[in-house]
Amino acid sequence: MILAMKSYRKELWFEVPSRRAFINITPQVEQCLKESGVREGLCLVNAMHITASVFINDDESGLHHDYDVWLEKLAPHEPVSAYRHNRTGEDNADAHMKRQIMGREVVVAITGGKLDFGPWEQIFYGEFDGRRRKRVLVKIIGE
Ligand code: ZN
Repeated sequence: MILAMKSYRKELWFEVPSRRAFINITPQVEQCLKESGVREGLCLVNAMHITASVFINDDESGLHHDYDVWLEKLAPHEPVSAYRHNRTGEDNADAHMKRQIMGREVVVAITGGKLDFGPWEQIFYGEFDGRRRKRVLVKIIGE
């Protein structure tokens, strides 16, 4: 048997104008899948920064608001002096914690050339320390 595994890699760039945001990146990932030509395989999508997340959930604005309120309760941005990490001169300790809860990456099965989602599943970029250029890695392997 001869395996003809394809491999595809792309970086998606974001510059969010606010400190925090949730962005549906499913269309960009679907475009990557199209470019890869993979019909059966796996798609990894991960944040390349330790103050941002990639996660899967519903594209519903009320839910995103609820996430933001919940994350602010768990790890409030202010007062920045409450965090030892911020003694380094940074002010983003809360962003590191929010990223940890919301996760670094997702893996989606590829079946018949499509992302094999469950009901309502969409891929999001979660920004917790924006206003600068940051990247998401898309890696697709399969045949
Ligand atoms: Zn930091």
